[in-house]
Formats: sequence, structure tokens, C-alpha cells
Amino acid sequence: MIASKSAIQELSFFVNGKWEKGRAEALHPVRNPASEEVIAEVPYAAAPEVDHAVRCAHEAFLKWREVPVVDRVQVLYRYKTLLEKHHEEVARILTRENGKTLDDAKASVRRAIQMVEVASGMPSLMMGDSLHDVAKDIDCHTIRQPLGVCAGISPFNFPVMVPMWMYPFAIACGNSFVLKPSEKVPMTAVRTAELLHEAGLPAGVYNVVHGGKEAVDALMAHPLVKAVSFVGSTPVAKYVYETAARHGKRVQALGGAKNHLIVTPGANLEKTVEAIIGSAFGAAGERCLAGSVLVPVGDVAGPLLELLIERTKAIKVGDGIEPDSGMGPLVTEDHCRRVTGYIEKGVAEGAVALLDGRRIGAGKGYFVGPTIFDNVTPEMTIAREEIFGPVLSVIRVKSVDEAIELVNRCPFGNTTSIFTNDGAAARRYAHRIEVGMVGVNIGVAAPMAFFPFAGWKASFFGDLHAHGKDAIAFYTEQKVIMTRWF
Ligand code: NAD
Repeated sequence: MIASKSAIQELSFFVNGKWEKGRAEALHPVRNPASEEVIAEVPYAAAPEVDHAVRCAHEAFLKWREVPVVDRVQVLYRYKTLLEKHHEEVARILTRENGKTLDDAKASVRRAIQMVEVASGMPSLMMGDSLHDVAKDIDCHTIRQPLGVCAGISPFNFPVMVPMWMYPFAIACGNSFVLKPSEKVPMTAVRTAELLHEAGLPAGVYNVVHGGKEAVDALMAHPLVKAVSFVGSTPVAKYVYETAARHGKRVQALGGAKNHLIVTPGANLEKTVEAIIGSAFGAAGERCLAGSVLVPVGDVAGPLLELLIERTKAIKVGDGIEPDSGMGPLVTEDHCRRVTGYIEKGVAEGAVALLDGRRIGAGKGYFVGPTIFDNVTPEMTIAREEIFGPVLSVIRVKSVDEAIELVNRCPFGNTTSIFTNDGAAARRYAHRIEVGMVGVNIGVAAPMAFFPFAGWKASFFGDLHAHGKDAIAFYTEQKVIMTRWF
């Protein structure tokens, strides 16, 4: 639990239904990115603390797997009710530690609650198949059984929603779970663990350890951890995929992105610009589904950019907790420096800044305003690398086919959207594009909880995607039983 109710909260690990202090003396500061104030201090777990959490989770698993699934989901019903009750409170913690606007934070908590709702249907979702008389007097059926201890490692940008892509499904399937949230935003993980405990989950079924690489390495190497779910940047996703697989774990590792938004002549410009702004500048561009490259086809570029610049200028950048803020700060000072570094590189490589977010004024907070670059070429750094900030690069093309080639040359393949009134072009685009999640006249094509979520290529390492039916397959082992009675 949060040890101190003073302005700076001292966080602990949640293990076996109790709050435990870290063994290390040093605590690490968590800052409110809008004010730079230290709001919490977090301990980082080393291998012995991870081992303790995993062993407790394993003990809990041995009992939890015997609880009938209809009883397991009762906890999730109560958890959903508690999350609804504390929706605003959790969203406020999220805004304080992450920076995104309160409306955006609330929407992401809503998405998280939907994961709990879908996982509550586990009695139906976990059902197997059966067939009588597969041979004379022989019947066959399949069952799904939980794996054991599952581990989750999550990024800073969706501190409530991304962990809930994982643990409600894992737990409902009968597994126990150890979450290692992002050390940049550990506070919402603490509050949501308190609520899950309050919902009546038996001790040890859900555990939280904080930390960075050391904790992740210890989770991946632990013999009692059976599966690892990771969401974060591509280099770490690849490392986790390879390392956990080498240790014999089942792995799903969702990575970074570089998402293209295509606009054809004839698209509804009002609606398209609204969607582009939400996609590129919502959550200050800190979304794996954020539009990062705008690709106008033919002569739509002129009117599109004119309207886009006008509307983007109206975005108010400020503390996400203020009701009139349209965009909050970036998560940390380091990240802010990284994003401004990309803007500098864009200018140096010859792109034309139609809007330059560095000119936002030097006050407190890690703010970078919306930035739009025109005359970007596919070779430029800003067109190739994930920036993860409010920077939109415009690459003009002559045809939808040229756009398809451009997008398919990109090593990432998380999401893309096409804005058009041409159904045949939209169909061709959706069919030929080598990307995992495609939007047609939708700015952020985020699959809902009952559909699977993941990209292709360098945006995903593994086989089974997050949530949807894939989650049940990922968090269970399938068994085939053949029966004959004499
Ligand atoms: P990150 O890769 O830096 O960190 C993610 C997690 O990995 C954190 O818990 C962190 O503590 C841990 N970690 C960091 N370095 C590690 C290392 N060397 N070894 C082991 N563990 C390590 O990512 P981030 O900055 O927190 O999040 C932003 C990234 O996440 C972006 O690239 C974004 O595209 C991606 N993301 C992807 C999706 C998706 O669905 N594909 C969703 C959200 C975020």
C-alpha cells in the first residue's frame, strides 16, 4: 500500500496479498511531468524479491486453478464495480504520473474496464470442443487448463489499460500473475492492485513488483514463470521475446510503431482533420497507435494541410488535469529531450516545419507542442524512426498504390488508416497493407477487448496477440481427451 499519505508517496511491492517494502535502500523518484514535482518514490526489485513474488504466486496458483471458473469470475465482477466507482480517482492518478489529459486518462480506464468485462465471460470463452463417435464408441473433447505463473511487463503510456490486456484474462483462466509496471508510472498499478485485493482475489494470485531491467531479467529467467506478456519499445520487445523464449517461456511481445495516415482526394476533410489531430497529437503522440506520417495523395495535400494547421493551432497545451488542456506534457525530461532532438534532426535534414512545438515557451513541465513537418522524404530520420511525441511528418504521394508501397517498406507494422470516400481504394489498401490493425476513416483503429490487438513485423514478436480470443489461447494449455468405455 502507499506507505505515506504525505505529498510524496512511498510505494511498495504487492506480494501475497500484502504490501512489502523493497530491500534496496535507494528509492527512485516519480515526477508529475506537468510540474516536475516528485510525487512518489518507488523501489526497484532485484532477483531475490522477484523470486519471492513468483514463489508466492506459484503457491497461490496451486489453489486458484482448483476454483471453478464461474467462481473465479465473481472476483472480476466485483473488480469491475470497484473500477467504475473509482474511475475518476484512478484516472486522476494516471494523469498526475503520466501527463495525459484527464479525459484521455478516463477513456483509457474505460478501455481497461472493458477488458475486465470481457474476461468475466471466461466460462463461455474457455469452453472446449467435443465430438461423439470420432471412431466406433470413442468420444473426443478438448479442455483448456491454466499455465501457472504468468508475468506482465508494461510501458509508461497506458498504465492501467495495457496491464489489463493481460491480467484479467490470465487470472480468469486460472493462472496467477506478477506485473512489472513501468517504473516511470507505478502509481496506478498500486491503486488498481488495492482495488483487486478489495474485490476479494485470494492472496498471491496477483502481485506487483516494481523496477526495470533487473526485475524483468529475473522474471524471464525464473523457472516457475510459464508465460511472459510484454508491451514496450521494439528493441526491448525483441530482447524480451528472444530471452524469455530461450528460457522456455511462452512469449508475446508487442513493440513500437511508425503509423501512416493516408488521405485521398474526396475524403471528408472536416472529419479527416479531426481524426488526424486525435491520432497524431492525442496523448501528446505517446501512443503506439499514434499517426506519425501523414500521406496525402495527389492534390488533396493543399486543402488538407491548410485546415490541419488551422485546427492544430487551436490545441491548448497544458497540465492534463486542467479541463481546458487539449494536450499534456511528455512523460519525462529525457523523453522530452529525445523528442525535441528529433525535431532538430528534421530541420537539419531539410524538412519544413509548418508548426514547431519547441516554441512552446520555457516554463515548468516537459511540454512540446504539436509539430508538423512538410517536404519529408522516406529516407529522413523523422520518417523512419518512432518518435513517440507530437510530431507529424508529411510525405506527399501521387497514388494510393505509391502510398501502399511506402507503408509496406516501413519496418514497423502496427496500425495505419486510410481516409477516403472511395470504397474500392479503401478495400485495396486494407487488403494489401502489411500492418496488423487498419482503420478506414478512423484515426485510432484500436481493437476493442473482444478482438485481438497487435501489429506485424517489427511491431510484434510472437504468435498470439493481446486480448480477444488470442488471450485465452495464450494463457491456457489445450488438452485433448479421447474416451472409450467398455
Ligand atoms: P520501454 O521499452 O522503454 O519499456 C517497457 C517496459 O520494459 C518497462 O516496464 C521497462 O521497465 C522495461 N524495460 C526497459 N528497458 C528494458 C531492458 N533493457 N530490459 C528489460 N526490460 C526493460 O517502453 P516505454 O518507453 O515504457 O513505452 C513506450 C514504447 O512502448 C513505445 O515504443 C510504444 O510504441 C510501445 N508501445 C507499444 C504498444 C503496442 O501495442 N505495440 C502499446 C503501448 C506502447
